[in-house]
Amino acid sequence: INILGIESSCDDTAAAVVRGVPGGAATVVSSVVVGQTELHAAFGGVVPEIAARAHVEKLDVSVKQALTDANLELSQIDAIGVTAGPGLIGGVVSGVMLAKGLSAATGLPLYGVNHLAGHALTPRLTDNVAFPYVMLLVSGGHCQFLIVEDASTFRRLGGTIDDAPGEAFDKVARLIGLPQPGGPAIETCAKAGNPRRFALPRPLLDRPGCDLSFSGLKTATLRARDGVIAQQGGLTGTDQSDLAASFQVAVADVLAEKSRRALISYLELNPARPTLCVAGGVAANASIRSALETVCTQLSVQFVAPPLRLCTDNAAMIAYAALAQMPDRDADGFDLSARPRWPLDKSSPAMLGSGK
Ligand code: ATP
Ligand code: FE
Repeated sequence: INILGIESSCDDTAAAVVRGVPGGAATVVSSVVVGQTELHAAFGGVVPEIAARAHVEKLDVSVKQALTDANLELSQIDAIGVTAGPGLIGGVVSGVMLAKGLSAATGLPLYGVNHLAGHALTPRLTDNVAFPYVMLLVSGGHCQFLIVEDASTFRRLGGTIDDAPGEAFDKVARLIGLPQPGGPAIETCAKAGNPRRFALPRPLLDRPGCDLSFSGLKTATLRARDGVIAQQGGLTGTDQSDLAASFQVAVADVLAEKSRRALISYLELNPARPTLCVAGGVAANASIRSALETVCTQLSVQFVAPPLRLCTDNAAMIAYAALAQMPDRDADGFDLSARPRWPLDKSSPAMLGSGK
């Protein structure tokens, strides 16, 4: 069957068509992502009101484009999957309203999807990963470890108690005079740097469990920068590279060590070797990937990182999550509501990592 996916929970407007079997294999037929980076550039962050208006303007054309790219008419679609949260509420509402309108006009069943479930199920869309597996979600807005038991059951092992790592990359880039988005800028700049010049902290490694923290690391990087400026009156290119490299290796160390702990606590419950999957924009970082790969090799665990276009926000993952969950659930009615917060793991809502 063909599923139309719609995603508008943050700063990307996306629509996609995924074809597959409910609860079974699927392929991406088309995937359109319209970013808003330029719109928010002048403000140094995503402005919710601007994001919501841009979604309203772009959702319609994104859906048409996804259908055109798939060479399908709306009448050839069998169901609609839409992100119903968590995220910036204005954007989520725009997507849900469009999806309801399409559903009302066509009679197609409507499935409200948790954006995080979309990310967490992506490895099964791109690779042949069996349930259960361990998932590390690392993006601009999220950081958490999940055990994905089936398409609808997620157990949270831990997550950030403050910032998400992507957010920290973006802020640190700003602090040391690099452009946005900060992740790729820091990665490039760090290549020429000495990761040992600044001894930055590895937050929460002294505590058991897989909770993470990035806000202290960001502050420590700010202090290191201020130390250099106090001595020399400014930052040279070498200082920027050394700060970027020292920060990046600290993030990689923390993510690797906490991944090790997540995998070990999983293995205590389940003797079968799990797969470690990553998703989110930060998973694009080669040093972080290689630190995670090293941990997986040591623990004889398979490592899967979906291609970047499916790791960052997109609508294919939303269509796929709807398809994957179909056997376990009913379609939603027109009372489907947009939720700013929606923890994946119902047993620990208070523990939800930082949203945006
Ligand atoms: P979310 O998916 O949580 O709703 P988002 O849209 O901000 O939020 P993504 O699109 O998955 O998240 O990722 C964007 C984030 O990833 C940004 O913070 C960006 O700096 C970071 N990022 C992108 N490339 C890299 C990289 N090479 N190294 C580190 N961070 C990166
Ligand atoms: Fe996302």
